[in-house]
Amino acid sequence: MADLPPKPSSLPFPDSLCHRCAAPPRYVESARGSVFILCPLLPNKYPPQPVRRCPLFRPDTQGPVS
Ligand code: SF4
Repeated sequence: MADLPPKPSSLPFPDSLCHRCAAPPRYVESARGSVFILCPLLPNKYPPQPVRRCPLFRPDTQGPVS
């Protein structure tokens, strides 16, 4: 898998809380082209998506992913 810069048009689960989180999440693409949301704060790294509630969520004050 390789790290990707955020691409809003291709983000998986656009309604996921992760996209607006200051963690910040990372977007990782598998060799088969699937994009996964990697959380740097959770031990399991890849929370089940879409995340709708998260005790570690903090709003990203930098604004939406662009
Ligand atoms: S802390 Fe929660 S909301 Fe933020 S990126 Fe991780 S799983 Fe998503």
